[in-house]
Amino acid sequence: LAQAIKHDVVVIGGGPGGYVAAIKAAQLGLDTACIEKRGALGGTCLNVGCIPSKSLLNNSHLYHTIKHDTKERGINVADVQIDIGQLQNAKEKSVKQLTGGIEMLFKKNGVKYYKGSGSFVDEHTINVDPVEGGDKVELKADNVIIATGSEPSPFPGITVDEERIVTSTGALDLKEVPKRMAIIGGGIIGLEMASVWSRVGSEVTIIEYRDSIGAGMDAEVAKSTQKFLTKQGLKFKCGAKVTKGERVGEVVNIEIETTKDGKTEQFEADVLLVAVGRRPYTEGLNAEAIGLDFDNRGTLVIDSEYRTKHPHIRVIGDVTFGPMLAHKAEEEGIAAAEFIKKGHGHVNYGNIPSVMYTHPEVAWVGQNEQQLKEAGIKYKVGKFPFIANSRAKTNLDTEGFVKFLADAETQRVLGVHIIGPNAGEMIAEAGLALEYGASTEDIARVCHAHPTLSEAFKEAALGTFDKTINF
Ligand code: FAD
Repeated sequence: LAQAIKHDVVVIGGGPGGYVAAIKAAQLGLDTACIEKRGALGGTCLNVGCIPSKSLLNNSHLYHTIKHDTKERGINVADVQIDIGQLQNAKEKSVKQLTGGIEMLFKKNGVKYYKGSGSFVDEHTINVDPVEGGDKVELKADNVIIATGSEPSPFPGITVDEERIVTSTGALDLKEVPKRMAIIGGGIIGLEMASVWSRVGSEVTIIEYRDSIGAGMDAEVAKSTQKFLTKQGLKFKCGAKVTKGERVGEVVNIEIETTKDGKTEQFEADVLLVAVGRRPYTEGLNAEAIGLDFDNRGTLVIDSEYRTKHPHIRVIGDVTFGPMLAHKAEEEGIAAAEFIKKGHGHVNYGNIPSVMYTHPEVAWVGQNEQQLKEAGIKYKVGKFPFIANSRAKTNLDTEGFVKFLADAETQRVLGVHIIGPNAGEMIAEAGLALEYGASTEDIARVCHAHPTLSEAFKEAALGTFDKTINF
């Protein structure tokens, strides 16, 4: 081994948590390095998560709209075809540009990038095994940020081959449209992939163990989501558990059993997607060597300042507690760097939005009705449907509604749940309201431009304490 290289901060993992932490730490004047073993920066999110899925979602939606939804708009098109090869090329192009962009940002901010796998030797020493071969490098770090992310959870008894039985990674990379696709799990990833492949011609069946889809959604929104997706041709088998998923030649044999009465059913699919969640990833990190604590789910245990039992080693993102979302990991990245440099940082865990990029989109932030009832908090509901919104009408895109939950006494915003066009963008306004403790009256008194979808947002806020104007 050559002589060890010293850094103020070494970040292990170059996903949205790690790369953001590294840039922030460098901007705060710390000598910072980031180790990433994938060969490209951006982590799950940019390489096999948020970004490729949104590329496929956007372009499959465009195709579907052009094919099925132009006549009434006065546009006649003929012979519309999908080119899966080019659909995938467009996805690759976006991914490449964005991951390359992070490398540029590292250069601009002076972050040293080690393309390799990092593993602990002791509490201050990390070995880097370069992915492109060559000698190992030894790093000495005053501070370490672990941001090694997550991986798809396996399904007991089902073997993934990423060809016929796939995780989200394989589902993002299919070379042709499967005639029949089955999906285990009606969460965000399952439903986004279901939308993509159904729009380009696949018959998609979603199997969900619980009685409803959309884990974490407000129950009323989840019900509407299922209704709209069913109308688009997706089939749902809720309250059913998968008892078999086995590849035989070019088909997958699936068996399910209803949770209520144990009735079994068999069917075939050309592709089976296992989308039952993700689990923390720490393989090869050698965290055991320095005695880091894990909980029984494999999550690295930390305190409120992201510190492990060794206070100079912090953990952020999917590999530790909280929702597995890119923006949550990024916020923690900033906060962890600030804790190192300044001793304080902040993430508001009550204000982390969730978005499902189906059509209509579904977005929410804060608490839902189930949670408020459970906590015994008295609240009022304000709702406004997009069918009564002028912009949604002109766009011929009127499915869904905005729903506000406000404190019954003070009108303070407690949660906002949107299903409808552009919900993912609109939810940012709700985040701002929550962060600054706004009341629904504060929002209803803000002038919103006409005609915009955001007027539905304003009217739903109004609906918690007064009559709406347009509905
Ligand atoms: P990761 O992004 O997983 O990054 C960790 C990185 O660490 C990896 O690149 C890994 O190679 C590297 N690494 C691990 N161990 C080592 C080691 N020992 N040495 C060196 N490097 C190592 N979230 C959203 O907010 N919005 C979305 O729309 C969204 N869509 C998604 C769609 C899909 C299909 C999937 C799978 C996920 C999606 N997510 C989405 C979740 C999001 O991708 C994650 O929450 C996010 O990537 C977590 O960031 P992270 O930095 O904690 O970990």
